[in-house]
Amino acid sequence: GAARSVTVLGATGSVGLATVDLLERHSALFEVEAVAAHSDAVGLAAVARRLGARRAVVANPAAKPALDAALEGSGVATAAGPAAVIDAAAIPVDWTMAAISGAVGLEATIAAVRRGGAVALANKECLVCAGAAFMREVGAAGATLLPVDSEHNALLQALGGQSVDAVEAMTLTASGGPFRTWEAARIAQAGPEDALRHPTWSMGAKITIDSASLMNKGLEVIEAFHLFGVEAARLRVVVHPQSVIHGLVAFRDGAVTAGLASPDMRVPIAHALGYPGRLDTPAARVDLARLGAMTFEEPDLARFPALRLALEALAAGGGAPAVLNAANEIAVAAFLARRISFGGIAALVEQTLSDAAGRGLTGEPATVDEALALDAEARELATARLPGHALPAH
Ligand code: NDP
Ligand code: MG
Repeated sequence: GAARSVTVLGATGSVGLATVDLLERHSALFEVEAVAAHSDAVGLAAVARRLGARRAVVANPAAKPALDAALEGSGVATAAGPAAVIDAAAIPVDWTMAAISGAVGLEATIAAVRRGGAVALANKECLVCAGAAFMREVGAAGATLLPVDSEHNALLQALGGQSVDAVEAMTLTASGGPFRTWEAARIAQAGPEDALRHPTWSMGAKITIDSASLMNKGLEVIEAFHLFGVEAARLRVVVHPQSVIHGLVAFRDGAVTAGLASPDMRVPIAHALGYPGRLDTPAARVDLARLGAMTFEEPDLARFPALRLALEALAAGGGAPAVLNAANEIAVAAFLARRISFGGIAALVEQTLSDAAGRGLTGEPATVDEALALDAEARELATARLPGHALPAH
């Protein structure tokens, strides 16, 4: 058949480049409409040339001259600014990869959702921020939302097309991150260099910090709640340091199915890109005899309070997940800038949730615009709680 048209939002990032790799390997099947990033003009231009993209867009206007220079003579159209990214996302295509990091990607992701077609969702923050309003947009547009997050992709595959009414529980696995075996006091004082050392996955900085705090798993439970429409009490987390099983579905009859793959994002991305078919990938194959053993443990909510806060925010509902996400984004950026300690991340999130509740910011955003407004208010509250000075150097 004819080539499918695709757009990649966040094309220079970890998920974006894994997507680009697959598009290049299967170039006969796809035609690339647009690629978008924030500031990495050189990286984006290279991606646009590799894929023969029609257009390349940077959100940061200051990156436009470098983008133009890098694409001179290529025939690739260029544009810049947040509105240009949203416009590019709204161009009708068959498939969009939503791989911008953070709630800042919500508007572009929603623009892709609104034009219908298939949206491969990597950007979990936008779903945690806008929640039910996001899912209503998906329903209204008749878009096909394909989860790219490895756990959710595994859960979708393990569900095997059955109704969630048949499901007793869904379990997401967590690697446990670099601090899995550390004591609480040591975790609280860990620096960015410790937290960025993920044992099994290679990912962007923000999600790597979230994986170390287990906030990532909390965001993913909220993501699963919205994606699958399974009540919170049926969602479980188990720590599985080998990261080979990504998700398990337990059915009412006692049967359990699981999704397995090597920890390589090209596997879930290929599932979303090939859906409902399958695409070849060069990812390492699961070899159980070589693996020898898989282990599992209960997550420790005392040593990893970020996971506790996320589960509590889901249980509280309303605006709590959006506030949690916004505060966490501020906290992670401050941690990476060495303004707060690792222990300060969960502390700032908890403080911001309580500040927001104190101001009555508890209602569930009814629309994506309301979610964006709540996100902005929560960011202000979190920022106001940041220390004015940097942490002393070690
Ligand atoms: P990265 O930090 O590696 O990449 C982020 C991408 O988003 C970059 O291309 C960046 O551009 C772009 N970007 C950032 N801000 C904007 C903006 N305002 N407008 C347009 N583009 C923007 O992140 P990851 O690839 O690791 O993660 C992306 C998303 O996928 C996150 O939500 C994450 O939680 C999720 N995810 C990631 C996984 C992984 O393995 N990495 C696994 C599961 C989910 P630039 O390079 O110019 O800054
Ligand atoms: Mg994940």
